[in-house]
Amino acid sequence: MSGDREIPAEDSIKVVCRFRPLNDSEEKAGSKFIVKFPSGGEDNCISIAGKVYLFDKVFKPNATQEKVYNEAAKSIVSDVLAGYNGTIFAYGQTSSGKTHTMEGVIGDPQKQGIIPRIVNDIFNHIYAMEENLEFHIKVSYFEIYMDKIRDLLDVSKVNLSVHEDKNRVPYVKGATERFVSSPEEVFESIEEGKSNRHIAVTNMNEHSSRSHSVFLINVKQENLENQKKLSGKLYLVDLAGSEKVSKTGAEGTVLDEAKNINKSLSALGNVISALADGNKTHIPYRDSKLTRILQESLGGNARTTIVICCSPASFNESETKSTLDFGKRAKTVKNVVCVNEELTAEEWKRRYEKEKEKVARLKGKVEKLESELQRWRAGETVKAEEQVNLNELTEAVTPVSGMEESTVEKQGPVPATPALMIGSTLDVEERRKLELERERLYQQLDEKDEEINEQSQYVEKLKEQMLEQDELIASTRRDYEALQAEMNRIQQENESAKEEVKEVLQALEELAVNYDQKSQEVDAKNKEMETLSEELMQKQASLNTTTTELQQLRDMSSHQKKRIAEMLSNLLKELGEIGSTLGSDGSEIKISNDAAKLEEEFTVARLYISRMKSEVTNLTQRLHEIENKEQDSNKKVTEYEKELGECRLLISQHEARMKSLQESMREAENKKRMLEESVDALREECAKLKAAEQVSSASESEKKEANELRLALEQQMDQLRVAHQKQVAALRDEIAEKQQLINDIKDSNQKLSLAQQQLQSEYEKVKSEEAEKSQKLQELITTNERREQARKDLRGLEDTVAKELQTLHNLRKLFVQDLQARMKKNLSAEDNEEDGGSLAQKQKISFLENNLDQLTKVHKQLVRDNADLRCELPKLEKRLRATMERVKALETALKEAKEGAMRDRKRYQYEVDRIKEAVRQKNLARRGPAATIAKPIRSGQHHVVVGGGAAIRTGSNMGQKNMEIARKRESLIINEKDACES
Ligand code: ADP
Ligand code: MG
Repeated sequence: MSGDREIPAEDSIKVVCRFRPLNDSEEKAGSKFIVKFPSGGEDNCISIAGKVYLFDKVFKPNATQEKVYNEAAKSIVSDVLAGYNGTIFAYGQTSSGKTHTMEGVIGDPQKQGIIPRIVNDIFNHIYAMEENLEFHIKVSYFEIYMDKIRDLLDVSKVNLSVHEDKNRVPYVKGATERFVSSPEEVFESIEEGKSNRHIAVTNMNEHSSRSHSVFLINVKQENLENQKKLSGKLYLVDLAGSEKVSKTGAEGTVLDEAKNINKSLSALGNVISALADGNKTHIPYRDSKLTRILQESLGGNARTTIVICCSPASFNESETKSTLDFGKRAKTVKNVVCVNEELTAEEWKRRYEKEKEKVARLKGKVEKLESELQRWRAGETVKAEEQVNLNELTEAVTPVSGMEESTVEKQGPVPATPALMIGSTLDVEERRKLELERERLYQQLDEKDEEINEQSQYVEKLKEQMLEQDELIASTRRDYEALQAEMNRIQQENESAKEEVKEVLQALEELAVNYDQKSQEVDAKNKEMETLSEELMQKQASLNTTTTELQQLRDMSSHQKKRIAEMLSNLLKELGEIGSTLGSDGSEIKISNDAAKLEEEFTVARLYISRMKSEVTNLTQRLHEIENKEQDSNKKVTEYEKELGECRLLISQHEARMKSLQESMREAENKKRMLEESVDALREECAKLKAAEQVSSASESEKKEANELRLALEQQMDQLRVAHQKQVAALRDEIAEKQQLINDIKDSNQKLSLAQQQLQSEYEKVKSEEAEKSQKLQELITTNERREQARKDLRGLEDTVAKELQTLHNLRKLFVQDLQARMKKNLSAEDNEEDGGSLAQKQKISFLENNLDQLTKVHKQLVRDNADLRCELPKLEKRLRATMERVKALETALKEAKEGAMRDRKRYQYEVDRIKEAVRQKNLARRGPAATIAKPIRSGQHHVVVGGGAAIRTGSNMGQKNMEIARKRESLIINEKDACES
């Protein structure tokens, strides 16, 4: 496409001035309204501090948006649609109303500014135009900040470059162009751009006061009938606050400070100044991006309107003045405006013909001029009439060389007269060269710009990536910190758990020690009990023997009593008989001589009686003794019974205690197992965490490799975990097996203990049998003794009987002698008397003989009894011996049984210990592999220390216990001795 200015027309830049009302803060600060609007119909001048400024239009503070639009901007719409370029920009200090004027409140019919109104108007115009016109409207929106062009429709484009098209018209290369077909779409684009602008900066007010926003509407139209193509660009620019540039711009100098703050605005001021000063040959458009973009608008091909916005407050006087000065200067700038038309082929043909004609004409002229020159050179003087008319020549050239002229103008003013041209041919040559050089350099500059743009885009991308990376790093760091914290927490937990486990282990140790102690105590108590029961048994046996003895004694005493009573009654009877015989014969036979003999006989009887009496007293004494003994024994028995009860109570207490201890042991065991399991779990977790820590620590050093490493580690961890779980499962199975084994062993143990109990009971039985036997033996011994005693008594009795017989014999002898003597005496004197006497004697003799017979009978009976007993004695002795033997055999059997039980018990104990040891080893081994991952726990060491201490403690306790038991036993033995002695 090629542009052409068919009807180039000079057109001044239009400058309108708008004053805003005093704002609240200015009113509060008491600022005065210092601007005066001269009264009268003219509304194009104002005066401030006596200085008058003239503009195309001046809007008072109360001017509505609509009025401003209608009078300052509306005409541009038709220009743009007619193929002209247009520019409206607002200039003024910050908060002077630039944005208010340009944008206002979009969507608000009253408060909307120039841009929305123009957009609406353009579309309204288009809708109202002929049907055969086709429009393509596209918009761009960008801002210039710190001399960088940032695309507001694509935030990634942050440093766009300015290029020139083939007509050498500058444009923003790469700026997003959005095709739009309705005002709404345009407003959407504006909103999008504004929101992007807001997102990018923190302080929007400050940013907007330091940056220029440029909204570009590009309208292309094609007449579908004649293919006539027109295009118009409309720049709508909201400039940055002018306050800083005004300070420097007022003096027309460029200060570094101002340049730094806003290079573009000072460049704009410079461009305007240069344009206003007609003598300036170089216009510094290239000093900034803004001036390059606005190149066409300032002294180029565009209908330009500048709205200068001012504050009327006295506070802003200097700024207002400089703004007004800027406007005044800008007003003098002239633009050359033409329609941007794309020519059709026919048009081109026509133009070609024209140009051809022109060239032919000019050729003729050149020939004329050459001939004239030759004549001049030859020294001829050409007459004035013959000379070629130069005016004619220029006239001929001017109408057709508009394009070239405008091009030249753009490059800087060229000397207008040919004379001057000829006079400075060399200059021109040089200048051409320089121009070319400059062009080349500019091109290079543009290229560099483009490169910079690319680079900056790249930088932007990198920045974005960096931000992302930063975020990633931050998140990773956060994660890491969280993990660290978590790990710390878990480590702490682990520590505490370890502590707990340690405590629990200690408690378990203590429990075990306690248990040992208790079991030992129980054993000791059992032993004590056994000894006590043995003692008790002994006591009971002795008691039994004593009671049997007592019974025997009682029997004996009663027997003796009976016998004594019998004997007494016999004696009494005898005496009675004797008495009766004596009494009955007393009257008939007077035995005065025999009185002494009777007396003697009586004394003998008395003696006999006294002896009997003494014997009776003896017997009663003995009885008393025996009774006392019995009482003592009874007492002893009750004492023993009491003791036995106590012992039983003690035993039952001990048994209960043992049961509770066993239960507590079991509980402790369970707890221990649970704790061990928890320890294992914790260890696993700890290991996991440690691995995680390693991963995270590694990640800190090599963040890039971290992920891979972590992944790998996690995998490894997973594998490890699985392996560990398998191992744990295997170990658990093993434990279960072992448990089963233990249970089996326990069962067998129980069986053994049952057998032992059986044995014990058997032993008890045997013991009781033995006791019975011994009792029987005792009985036998006592009976033997009794027999002995009886024998002795019998012997005594025999002796007495023998004595008595002797005395009786003597008595008989005496009696016989007496009778013989009496018979001899009385033979002679009284024969009758002899008969009577002999009868009494005979009676006496018969009585005595009777007596004797009885006595001999008794004697015989006694002898027989004795013989019987003697006969029985060896039998009994034999029986006793047999019993003794049996007892001995039973005793040996018992001993053997005891020994066997002991052996069994020992074996069982040994087996149990072995299994326990094995289980413990297994446990240790199970805990073994975990130690290689986590911190190794010296469980063995710990155990030994505690065990040792405990062992020491237990030993001392045992010593005390043993001593106590020994003391008790001693006291018991002493008591026994006492009892025996008593
Ligand atoms: P700038 O863009 O020049 O920094 P603004 O357009 O943001 O200034 O205007 C600053 C304030 O003054 C805004 O609140 C705006 O509404 C107000 N304002 C500006 N011009 C006018 C006016 N002509 N009438 C009423 N209020 C105005
Ligand atoms: Mg603004």
